[in-house]
Amino acid sequence: MDGKIGVLALQGNVSEHIGAFERALSAMGHGTASSVFPVRKPADLDGCSALAIPGGESTTISRLIEKNRLYEPIRTFHGGIFATCAGMVLVATRVMDSRVRPLGLIDIAVDRNAFGRQKDSFETDLVLKGVTGGSFHAVFIRAPVVQTAGAGVTVLSRIPRGIVAVEQGRHMALSFHPELGGDTRLHERFLRNLGL
Ligand code: GLN
Repeated sequence: MDGKIGVLALQGNVSEHIGAFERALSAMGHGTASSVFPVRKPADLDGCSALAIPGGESTTISRLIEKNRLYEPIRTFHGGIFATCAGMVLVATRVMDSRVRPLGLIDIAVDRNAFGRQKDSFETDLVLKGVTGGSFHAVFIRAPVVQTAGAGVTVLSRIPRGIVAVEQGRHMALSFHPELGGDTRLHERFLRNLGL
């Protein structure tokens, strides 16, 4: 199946996600029938089978989602959502920060900036459930963690501080930044899950 993939382009790591999805599609042999687009307004979601919500500042992205009238269109989006870092905060059901209006797409409670400030950013090798080919080198930048996950959520990876990768149905959320660095295994797994 060919697909149109949207990347929410209000703030944050937009071009990195567009590049990573393009690399994932070409690694999967999609050619030019599938393509990746920035999403800035509700009509941009038309025909999309997937939407990436990138890292950035979740309070800012939340405010811009409201301003651009994207809250309901994303909440009722029929495709899969690939949410990283600030994106993980936005797709949660509960967030420990009242400045974020969570979209409630994955049944998780998320703690923002769980590792401290910018200087506490770090990299580590993660084992991810169902991901073959060895560990995944993960970059955490002022990252959130999942404190609690509902029964319908599959935990893909956990470190001592908390859960850092989850899936629920067609959605995936990651505390870290898989779009940095050349490893597209998680992007590919997400797309395959959608039948792409
Ligand atoms: N700390 C940011 C937030 O909660 C997320 C950081 C990131 O996306 N790199 O919005």
